[in-house]
Amino acid sequence: MSINVSHEIETPNQKQNRHKAMEAIKVINTLKDDFKNPIISMNYFYTLFEDVYCKNKSLHNDKLKVGTMCLQIPSEIIYALDAVPIRLCNGFYTDDEIGSDFMPQKSCPLVRATVGQFSSNNFNDKPNLVYSPTTCDQKTKAGAIIQTFGHEVIDVDFPRVKESEISREYFRRSIRNFAIDLSKKSGNKLTKSNLRKSVSKVAYAQSLYHKLCYYRQENDLVISGNDMFLITNAFFFDKIDSWIEAVEKVLNECKTRKEEKLFIANKISPRIVYTGSPPIFPNYKVPLLIEQSDGVIVADETCSANRMFNDRVAVDEWFINDILDSISDKYLKACTCPIFTKNDDRIRRIIELVKTYNADGVVYQSFAGCTVYEAEQRSVLEAMEKAGIPILYIESDYSPSQGGQLSTRIEAFVESLKTRRRTKK
Ligand code: SF4
Ligand code: SF4
Repeated sequence: MSINVSHEIETPNQKQNRHKAMEAIKVINTLKDDFKNPIISMNYFYTLFEDVYCKNKSLHNDKLKVGTMCLQIPSEIIYALDAVPIRLCNGFYTDDEIGSDFMPQKSCPLVRATVGQFSSNNFNDKPNLVYSPTTCDQKTKAGAIIQTFGHEVIDVDFPRVKESEISREYFRRSIRNFAIDLSKKSGNKLTKSNLRKSVSKVAYAQSLYHKLCYYRQENDLVISGNDMFLITNAFFFDKIDSWIEAVEKVLNECKTRKEEKLFIANKISPRIVYTGSPPIFPNYKVPLLIEQSDGVIVADETCSANRMFNDRVAVDEWFINDILDSISDKYLKACTCPIFTKNDDRIRRIIELVKTYNADGVVYQSFAGCTVYEAEQRSVLEAMEKAGIPILYIESDYSPSQGGQLSTRIEAFVESLKTRRRTKK
């Protein structure tokens, strides 16, 4: 795809779109062309991201578009009310730069990028309203800033202590209020039947993700970590039925590739679990560097992939309030984001992923300015050291200038894992 580079009397939004298209196409082309044995059915996702971010195509003109500031807003409830969730976590450096006028210099690029996009009011699918859970401090403040630009932002109370019964009750009430509010705003009634259907549909999407992950547990790999991030990032905004159909095709192709022994990595390529601040398209700087250095990401503990799909809603009684409570419990209990006071679950999950996916090491990325991920690195590093798992901690942002220094550290880490593998044999 060619990008229009004409500079004649561009509006600020045209300029923003052109820069974003350049960021997007660079990553899409890298994913398409730079790795061995690319999966043909991934073309659905490459085209989707190109349509949305290079051609500004709208996907949801006919529906109420519900913007969500974090994964803690249950998509099951949004789908049940015949609306579409659009996750607003943003990975564009162009938007990050615009957003830096409104946020402190040392703040999270993901949040700055979200704020930047709202400040310019430039969307392919503009959300009709936004729900903002009070998760990390920066997300919380970003909701209030976005409101000042004239967007409707509704706070959703979110507790910061995970293990307590009070938090559980608090979030259950919060989710019931969210459901009532969205029902009023959408003009649609929440029924047992539509809620049951949407819970089943999201659970089916999650089951497809798990099936893909089974392929990543094998010694010979048929799908890369970057392709997996693209697939899970598409779930932020794609039509769920189209997403399901496309993932089913990728799964079929994975099966054939396994039979034909068409693998994406070398036998010696170190297997890596990725954790920390979430890779969000097109900010795949660190995941791309890992796989370009001959590492392969076999699993992740991030909110842009594994955390979205890992745990399913477990319903005991199919009555509306019981279903809503089960949804709320799933979102709170399964979350391993470092926003909580204690977060032993996150350490447990990383170790479990290393074992299940037979990983050689862990890469921990923290966005510069994200105090919670930065603060939690010490406990994670200590736990990995105790478990004998090599780990690399990286601080990064969205700027393109950091590449050289990062790639040196990542290459050295991947090489050290290779050496460790050889000596283990
Ligand atoms: S990092 Fe945490 S607070 Fe931020 S979007 Fe992900 S789950 Fe939400
Ligand atoms: S990376 Fe950190 S600051 Fe950014 S959204 Fe996640 S928790 Fe919040």
